[in-house]
Amino acid sequence: MYLTKYFLPILKENPAEAQITSHRLMLRSGMIKQSSAGIYSWLPLGLKVLKKIEKIVVEEQVAAGHIPILMPTIQPSELWEESGRLDDYGKEMLRIEDRHGRLMLYGPTNEELVTDIFRSHISSYKDLPKTFFHIQWKFRDEVRPRFGVMRGREFFMKDGYSFDMDKDSAIHAYNRHMISYLRTYERLGLKAIPMQADTGPIGGDYSHEFLVLAETGESQVFYDKEITDLSLGDRNIDYSDQQAIATIVQDFTKPYARTDETHEQNLFNRIPNERRLSARGIEVGQIFYFGTKYSKSMGADVVLPNGDRTPVEMGSHGIGVSRLVGALIEANHDDLGIIWPSSVAPFDVVIINLKQGNEESEKACRQLYEDLILAGYDVLYDDRDERVGVKFATMDLIGIPWQIIVGPRDLADGFLELKCRKNGSKTRVPLTEGSRQLLSALNS
Ligand code: ATP
Ligand code: MG
Repeated sequence: MYLTKYFLPILKENPAEAQITSHRLMLRSGMIKQSSAGIYSWLPLGLKVLKKIEKIVVEEQVAAGHIPILMPTIQPSELWEESGRLDDYGKEMLRIEDRHGRLMLYGPTNEELVTDIFRSHISSYKDLPKTFFHIQWKFRDEVRPRFGVMRGREFFMKDGYSFDMDKDSAIHAYNRHMISYLRTYERLGLKAIPMQADTGPIGGDYSHEFLVLAETGESQVFYDKEITDLSLGDRNIDYSDQQAIATIVQDFTKPYARTDETHEQNLFNRIPNERRLSARGIEVGQIFYFGTKYSKSMGADVVLPNGDRTPVEMGSHGIGVSRLVGALIEANHDDLGIIWPSSVAPFDVVIINLKQGNEESEKACRQLYEDLILAGYDVLYDDRDERVGVKFATMDLIGIPWQIIVGPRDLADGFLELKCRKNGSKTRVPLTEGSRQLLSALNS
């Protein structure tokens, strides 16, 4: 993409309404624009990141055997009457009346809708287990929308719903979600810690929230340092191996890790002093096994092998896709701007032409651009007729992992400069045999 042909509305001034870094940097780098409180347009750069996160989320869900569908944003209120939640949900639910005076709502979540799909088509244990998921906009009329996309009113969420014939199988679905979520966060370059969450009146141990540690997080969290050393790494995951999956989940859920909602000081005190940590955290996901709560009230039954009918065992599992964009920035920035992990960077590399208008420079940049595109990279070419300082500041702000700096002096010697946004290191690379070296650096 040639920058002069793109749409990158950079803000020079710090927006006064932004209280936290990620919100400020998203506005400054032209990723989003607020349209009303807690509701945003995603501009080209922001959309690219959102879509990259979405893709990783989908890949990991599909790898776990979960099936993508797409449910609508607008739902009929009758289903919520059946489940008994229409009144319980309260003011966060945006109610809409259609032209026939029928009450509709903008979905804050999809248990009712997905249970309705399930009961219309599945009635035998033979069709189980099934997990359906979608990534769709949600609306919750939050009292205090703030921090940009972190607590929006409209937000993009992956929500998955598992259906199983018995508890044992439902726990396996829960465990698959735990591991596929951990894999997702790791691929995003994020450390998200599973923490025991409140299950409300349903009880039991089967809800976990995933928290990214960050000073600006809205939750207070308490954890055993040991849990931060755990990672899946490139461990081979076989989702069909129920026992192996349960063992990994056990590893990740054994150390103490809770938010203030479930925190128990006396349990926490049993951890050796130096391992006892407390911090702020951002909730980027939650998984929940809740049994027959919706299947009972909505009549989603299946016939078992012995001929009995039983309400299906369910769980619901969510990842805050749009919130993750903010959380990633909270975890990856410096004074100059964003530092994208390569897995979600809006572009892989930017070519910065220091002397726009100079025939040689432009020719070299265009050639590099073509070569990199051919090699499969997503490339931004800063072909603006701007001062060098402005170009550097823009590129540091928007945080593309690699910068190729093409300056007349280096070029005369047959060199270009490769700069790593993360650590600021610069390498002079010869143009002639350059592409090979360059490509291996970009891949690293
Ligand atoms: P919170 O406690 O932050 O209000 P929640 O527990 O109500 O969130 P869930 O129903 O668990 O949210 O939704 C799943 C995920 O969706 C959350 O873990 C979070 O990442 C994301 N999410 C929830 N509410 C918002 C919001 N208002 N804006 C952006 N993302 C959100
Ligand atoms: Mg939650």
